[in-house]
Amino acid sequence: MTHALPALFVSHGAPTLPLEDRPASTFLRGLLDALPERPKAILVVSAHYETMSPEVSTAETPETIYDFGGFPPALYQMTHKAPGAPDVARRAAELLREAGGSVRENPARGYDHGVWTPLKLMDPGATIPVASLSVVHGQSAAWHYAYGRALAPLRDEGVLIIGSGAATHNLRAFMMSRPRIEDERDEARGFADALGRALEGGDWDAVLAGPDGLEGGRWNHPSDDHILPLYVAMGAGGEGAAGKRIHASTNYGVIAMDAYAFDSPEALQAA
Ligand code: ZN
Repeated sequence: MTHALPALFVSHGAPTLPLEDRPASTFLRGLLDALPERPKAILVVSAHYETMSPEVSTAETPETIYDFGGFPPALYQMTHKAPGAPDVARRAAELLREAGGSVRENPARGYDHGVWTPLKLMDPGATIPVASLSVVHGQSAAWHYAYGRALAPLRDEGVLIIGSGAATHNLRAFMMSRPRIEDERDEARGFADALGRALEGGDWDAVLAGPDGLEGGRWNHPSDDHILPLYVAMGAGGEGAAGKRIHASTNYGVIAMDAYAFDSPEALQAA
């Protein structure tokens, strides 16, 4: 069966991305227009929604959460006013339960910046309803891949599934070197490109071994949280899916902003 919409992974970068004029912000601004159809709703699996067991936001009108500190005041004025998508959230929960999981529904959870940073660029008019789903602390890459697989039927229902994390995310290296936004470090770009080769070349076993499966993985992901949404997006690509890198750039030396689409090889070739 062919799905109209691919599953996506995007790197959300620093929360200031909507204020910056960077290749990644330009890419995100054009992303919805590059899709074969306009999504009815978006389900974001966010690195900043990390829980001990699966949780989905069923909020009707999610608030914008400022889950960061020390950024310019203008950032704390930004909001993403898109309506929630409680129906999509409940459908996602149903699919995960059918696959044997348990899911908590949280009617009070707003949009963390893993959700609203990319959406502010992708859908500035905030017209598309959004549900968000957590990643689960301590669960493996393979577990998150299976979690994504369970969600794949949503794509037939007009829902765009987005894993929002970072291709590389060594914040300690960022703090220590205080890079400029236009810097690019070899350690980060090298790993991001190796990830791209593995995903496009079909070596998914190396990726699904987790951050230790590829050289430089642990340096770029000292903790798993920002890579977990990638595994979910891979799974949401469905059975026999392939991966295609649809964006590559770097911010602040060590934050690779790469993005991927996951879909059948035929659909990716046609896109
Ligand atoms: Zn983040």
